[in-house]
Amino acid sequence: MKRSLINELEVIFVKKASRYLALALTGLMITALAACGAPKEEAKTYVIYSDNAFAPFEYLDEATGKHVGLDMDIMAAIAEDQGFAYEMNNVGFDPAMGAVDSGQADGMIAGMTITEERKLKYDFSDGYFVDGQIMAVAADSTIATLEDLRGQNVAAKIGTMSTQYVESIADEYELTISYYEDSPTMYAAVAQGNSAACFEDRAVVGWAIESNGIALKTVGDVIEPREYGFAVKKGTSPELIEMFNAGLQNLKDSGKYDEILAQYGY
Ligand code: GLN
Repeated sequence: MKRSLINELEVIFVKKASRYLALALTGLMITALAACGAPKEEAKTYVIYSDNAFAPFEYLDEATGKHVGLDMDIMAAIAEDQGFAYEMNNVGFDPAMGAVDSGQADGMIAGMTITEERKLKYDFSDGYFVDGQIMAVAADSTIATLEDLRGQNVAAKIGTMSTQYVESIADEYELTISYYEDSPTMYAAVAQGNSAACFEDRAVVGWAIESNGIALKTVGDVIEPREYGFAVKKGTSPELIEMFNAGLQNLKDSGKYDEILAQYGY
């Protein structure tokens, strides 16, 4: 009797012990597997912001509901080349700058002109395109020079070089300024006669006229062609600028950069 009780206890003990051992081993294996499977550093998904209506750099493809364009292609090709993940948010130019300023975005690509003034707030990549602003008036307008604009209302896009330029000549030509959040509404104001003119990046207003049939025409020369760059908030994400520059160079070396530009007629 006594003997068998001990035996029974032994059996129970062995069963329990083996169960604990099994559990412990499973635990060890899971830990080991997790350690093998997980990358050493948690891979970061960069949050990138952009304009939403700035063809050919970024614009909504009605068929897919996704934003496409030269900036979108360059960003995708660079991320692939450099092996980093990102999510794209097409919110508009001024909101994109706001997102970078507040730290909500790691960076922005939005046909953004590199200027000394902006370098006080942002770190820029190497330039990947060159363009400048040009005056656009209604297709049937007789305005051809700045002097013709004297005393009139001009449309400008908030936060952009167009606003900076118009504000810089407003006193001299006694202009009043109407501000718009995006390029299409700015063009509409001019096409409908609410404003006498607007200033916009030549490639972009050119695309709107040629590809979208906007009733505007450009007059005069491109004001000051400058480079477009990818931007981060000053002093943040230096590795992102490094990867952008390295990737851009690789795209140029491989011919992929020319291939992307050619898709948009450049
Ligand atoms: N290139 C202009 C700028 O940087 C316009 C950019 C834009 O409207 N997306 O201000």
